[in-house]
Amino acid sequence: MKISLIDIGSNLTHDSFAGDRDEVLARALAAGVDRQIVTGTDLSSSHQAAGLAAAHPSVLSSTAGVHPHHAQSFGPAVREALSGLLNGPHVVAVGECGLDYCRALAPREAQRAAFIAQLEIAVAARKPVFLHQRDAHEDFAAILREFAGDLAGGVAHCFTEGPAELQEYLELGLSIGVTGWVNDERRGQRLREALPLIPADRLMVETDAPYLLPRDLAPRPASRRNEPAFLPHIARTVARLRGETLESVAASTTRNATRLFGLDARDS
Ligand SMILES: [Zn+2]
Repeated sequence: MKISLIDIGSNLTHDSFAGDRDEVLARALAAGVDRQIVTGTDLSSSHQAAGLAAAHPSVLSSTAGVHPHHAQSFGPAVREALSGLLNGPHVVAVGECGLDYCRALAPREAQRAAFIAQLEIAVAARKPVFLHQRDAHEDFAAILREFAGDLAGGVAHCFTEGPAELQEYLELGLSIGVTGWVNDERRGQRLREALPLIPADRLMVETDAPYLLPRDLAPRPASRRNEPAFLPHIARTVARLRGETLESVAASTTRNATRLFGLDARDS
């Protein structure tokens, strides 16, 4: 049986794909990755992601947002521009946005302000949010709680935490994005504990390519670049750890992503 997967987190605008993006797309399709949501991380990459999605509407959609690392670039002009991008038919979510106190490349206050502003944009645009959180669980959940009733849904992208944080996200109505972090037995231990507890109707899969090459991928590409074609490898691990078949994980994650991002309403 041929599987069909959606990679909800693909950084296809990354420089490392500049030379062979068409081949990367072709390899993904050949592997059963039939759609990718291209992540925007700042205004310029959000524009670029929207351009890619417009050029390949049958296989790509995109997000528009400002990653917490770039929170200091957020201001009224960026807010305007993001809202404009969200009017495009192929821009399906706001993000990635959130809080990152781990690398703390931007001051916390600026991160919180940019995050809140993007949640406001999402509510106004009636689009779901694509969320990033690292070492900031409490502030992140507290801010989301303020918006929970008004948001058109959201996904905690690259979820790496354990059962307690999972429970809180589920109560906030979020879906859960699982990357190749799960393929790392040591680093992904808490995630592996939480994974079987994710309801089948909240689970999504993603590569976060070119980042997070699955640790147990064999053979490993010499470039160490992750790419969407490796998503079935991640989905197979997710299936094994949940005691499901690959086919059932593919069917549920594709259904969930299609619903959250409104992909069936778009003409492709
Ligand atoms: Zn992220």
